[in-house]
Order: sequence, then C-alpha cells, then structure tokens
Amino acid sequence: MRIYKVGGAVRDRLLGKPVTDIDWVVVGATTEEMLAKGFRPVGADFPVFLHPKSGEEYALARTERKSGRGYGGFTFHASPEVTLEEDLIRRDLTINAMAEDDQQNLTDPYHGQRDLEARLLRHVSPAFAEDPLRVLRVARFAARYAALGFTVAPETLELMRQLSESGELEALTPERSWKEISRALMEDQPQVFIEVLRACGALKVLMPEVDALFGVPQPPAHHPEIDTGAHILSVLQQAALHKQPLTVRWACLLHDLGKGLTPEEEWPRHIAHEFKGLKLIKAVNERFKAPRDCQELAMLVGEYHTHGHRALELKPSTLLELLQSFDVYRRPQRFEEFIAACEMDARGREGLEQRSYPQADYLRGAATAARSIAVQPLLEKGFKGPELGEAIKRERLKALKAYKEQV
Ligand code: ATP
Ligand code: MG
Repeated sequence: MRIYKVGGAVRDRLLGKPVTDIDWVVVGATTEEMLAKGFRPVGADFPVFLHPKSGEEYALARTERKSGRGYGGFTFHASPEVTLEEDLIRRDLTINAMAEDDQQNLTDPYHGQRDLEARLLRHVSPAFAEDPLRVLRVARFAARYAALGFTVAPETLELMRQLSESGELEALTPERSWKEISRALMEDQPQVFIEVLRACGALKVLMPEVDALFGVPQPPAHHPEIDTGAHILSVLQQAALHKQPLTVRWACLLHDLGKGLTPEEEWPRHIAHEFKGLKLIKAVNERFKAPRDCQELAMLVGEYHTHGHRALELKPSTLLELLQSFDVYRRPQRFEEFIAACEMDARGREGLEQRSYPQADYLRGAATAARSIAVQPLLEKGFKGPELGEAIKRERLKALKAYKEQV
C-alpha cells in the first residue's frame, strides 16, 4: 500500500499558499485492508475513508467512466491494480493532478508544475467534459488565483463552452452548484468567477438573469461605468475588498436583476427595477436552493437598495416602513447586512470606489432611534393588542421625526 498527498495540498504547497485540508490517495490497497487499519468508510459511491485519528480523506486510487447524464452517470472502478497515473488523469486541472509521497517526491505526469509556472488552468484530458461541475470549479479556481495571474487555458475555455452548450449544466443538482457558487463568491476576486462563466457561455445557462445585465446601459451621472454587468462585477469586487459575508455578496450579485427587464426604449433609466426584479431574484434563489438567510437578504436588498441610497431624503414615515420591513427590532444583524450591500452598490461604480457613504450611519442612527422608544409607559396607559402595536408605531414615528431634525 502506497499513500500520496494529492490535489489542493500539493498545488498550494508549490504555490507557497497555506494548506488547509489534505486529500490522500491510496494505491495498491483493498477496502478490507483499509478497514482493518481502522479507517472509517464514507459515502456510498466512492471508496473513500476517513483516517481514524486525523479525520482526513483517503481515497482508493480509482478510474472513472461516464455512463449517463450528470454526476450520477459515472461508474467507478477501484482496485489495487489502479495506478497513481490512472487516478490522476481523471482529475480536473493539471495543477490539481499532482501527487507527492512522504519524501515530497512529486509525481506529475500531466505537467501541473509547468502550468503552475505558466499560471494556466488547463484540463488534464478530454474526460474533463464528463462532469459539468468542472465548469464551475475552473471558474472558482480562476477567481481564487486571479491575483497570482492565473487564467484559463484557451483550449480549456473551449471545452467549457462546448459543455455549456451541450445542456449538461442543467443536469447539475442545486446542492452541487450552490457549493461551488458560494465558495467562489467568498474568494478574493469573486467577479472573476462570473466573468469566466460568462466567457464560456455557462452564465447564460446557470443565471440568465445575471447574463442579461451585460449590454444594458444605466444613466452615466450615477453610473460612470454605464454597463449594468460591469457594475455588478465591481460591486462584487467591493464586497470582497470589504470582506463582506456570503449573504451580502449574494445580495450584491442579484440586486439589480430588474434592470434586465427594462424595455430598450426606456434605457438608460430603469423605473421600478427594484420591484420588477423580485420575481427574478426569487427564481435564482430557488434554482440553487440558496440558504434562507441568503435568499431573504437578496430579496430585501433587491426591493430596498434605492431607499438605502436615498436614506437622507426619506420622509420619517418611509424610513419607518423601511425599518419595519427589516424588522430591525428583532433582526439588527440583517439590517447591518442590508446597509453593507447598499454601500457596496454605491462604491461598485467606476471612479467612485472611495466615496463616503453617510447613508450607512444615518440608517444606523434611525434604527437606534426607532428601537429606543419605551413600551412600558404605553402599557401603563392601558394599550393592548393591535392598539399597542399602533401606539408603538406612532412613538417610533415621533422618534424618527426628532432624529431627522436633529441630524
Ligand atoms: P480546495 O483548496 O478548494 O479544497 P482542492 O483542489 O483540494 O481545492 P477538492 O474539492 O478538495 O479541491 O478536491 C480534491 C482534488 O480532487 C482536486 O484537487 C482534484 O484533483 C479532484 N477533484 C475534486 N472534484 C473534482 C471533479 N469534480 N472533477 C475532477 N476532479 C476533481
Ligand atoms: Mg481539498
């Protein structure tokens, strides 16, 4: 039995990056031998085990063959005869298809090291096309390593284009797609993920609502970059620069979908795009079964981002409605995330990246004012049930009027 480090751990060590999780491949062993050594089997499909102590993943060397559509359509063959080279050739990218023994001797039959030096994301073999998830993985790695100068090799991009056109992307489960999308959005250059998906035609299949924003103009006075797609990319970049959480990044990606529905004769204005976009945001949310907090924030940011920008001009009653919609009394964190998304939207515009956003503190102050009203005196006055609710609202409105005058 011979054991090698593979995949990301080898790649990241050679890149001088910190290695977080280590994947291992085991050559020349049977399932029975692994179990006898105390490894715990995981997953019904693959011969993969967890180390009894470290908990790291050990996979028996295997070959794969495509036997149908989607990810389920694979047959695996694992046996002690499968060689390291045979295992490595089924992997996605050459830089992910290197192995290392305990002496740090490198096995690199597909020239991953050469591609690391050339900063190229290149597929290992034509079998790349057998799993459509690889389109998303490559786009994610492009986002992760963009700062190091990595690009997708032209022949790999071509394969990704063919895969996108073939209809195979539709066979991906929401869960597998979301895992890649969410990880990609959390990279330092999440906009590169969207750019690469767009370049190979996958964006049109996965998120046609986002794809449709490219080529749609906005008013130059507010949007010097003009193109709505370019705007979305900069908003994502700002969100990453400001280390925003996934909820905020997801909301940033989807906030302007309504602009893709504006009839051309109304360009570059987008009247009521906030409201019109909601059904599209809902559709994308549901397509990928995004987690509840991501779904919620995307819908709220979609509907109210313009309110955020106009915060200082809002009437106290409108401000109150905004705070009520967010339930800032019980969900203060969600309102903070809304403010963050608005700020990223304001900064994600050409030449305006460094602008100040006084709306943020103004909104925080408004939330504090509305939250600070005392309920006890109202109870003492005898208010109950719906009347108490109305009385609280009146007090909050008073507090917001006072707040607006004082600021
Ligand atoms: P990360 O740093 O994101 O964990 P990684 O390269 O280790 O990157 P994993 O998803 O942990 O990625 O997978 C480990 C290895 O398994 C990869 O490096 C690659 O060789 C292979 N691999 C994983 N998923 C696929 C896939 N869908 N198609 C082909 N090879 C894959
Ligand atoms: Mg890994």
